[in-house]
Amino acid sequence: MTGRVGIGLDIGGTKVLGAVVDDAGAVVDEHRVPSPTGEWRGSGSSQGLFDAIVATVTELRARQPEVTTVGIGAAGMVDLDGAIHYAPNVPAFRSTPVRADVEAAIGLPTVVDNDANVAAYAEARFGAARDMSDAMVITLGTGIGGGVVIGGKVLRGAHGFAAEVGHFQIDPHGPMCACGERGHWEAMASGTALGVMARAAAHRGELATVVTAVGGDPDAVHGPDISTAGRAGDAEALAVIDAYAVNVAIGLVGLANIFDPGVIAIAGGLVNDGELFLGPIRKHFIGHIEGATYRPVPEIVPATLGERAGVIGAAILAMDQHPVA
Ligand SMILES: [Zn+2]
Repeated sequence: MTGRVGIGLDIGGTKVLGAVVDDAGAVVDEHRVPSPTGEWRGSGSSQGLFDAIVATVTELRARQPEVTTVGIGAAGMVDLDGAIHYAPNVPAFRSTPVRADVEAAIGLPTVVDNDANVAAYAEARFGAARDMSDAMVITLGTGIGGGVVIGGKVLRGAHGFAAEVGHFQIDPHGPMCACGERGHWEAMASGTALGVMARAAAHRGELATVVTAVGGDPDAVHGPDISTAGRAGDAEALAVIDAYAVNVAIGLVGLANIFDPGVIAIAGGLVNDGELFLGPIRKHFIGHIEGATYRPVPEIVPATLGERAGVIGAAILAMDQHPVA
């Protein structure tokens, strides 16, 4: 470590999280702009989001004047010049030259990449995929984000749009995805999808204990209620978790058959429940991966950097791409 520090931002549909990160991956300062109503998601206003980005960088730079770079991880399809073309869950981003606009407003070298790519970069440098040349980092949240590390580098593709794993089609007749196609992996295996599956089970008359616990309305059942009941050993909740784990595992198997990762790190809130989700996911993954008994099977482990993976990876990526002379 040289003592160098840079700014990292993680931008999603409902918040901007900013941090000052040192070149050993430690967060030394933090600033968060919450948007609890999800205003960027609803309004489609890129100006409000851009203002929040600039305000966050300006605040952090005032507190830590020695920063020399800005890295941004943003949801959606980010091209190789840091323009965001399309983000299903953030309508504020449509053909928006975020890198160029932020760099012009701030005056510091700026790098923009997909949020899942920068999270994968962080996990590969400092977290669960450290020292692995080939790995996948999959975030199960509102949607599904993925980063694929090949030969120590994050796969970007010809245009920057590689590893949009959430929009990998699992079932052409499956539920509608935020992007307008059916049966994409994130429509079937995101944290959001867990809640959808739970409410469907409740409407079928299953999950009686969970429905009672939330006041009797099947539509009031959400993912965390399933986790709580699952931890208590409720058989019907465990059945929903198992069905959900099948959907997660099917996508992981397809990707692992293509990329042959040494390790698959899973990020997202359900990782906090340890083996409650990871156990069934691992079981179904091993049950379906090609040649399971004749090969080393990729390990499925929890990601270790938590919600700060994005800011850490974005900051480190910007410092790596703009070394000090
Ligand atoms: Zn989709």
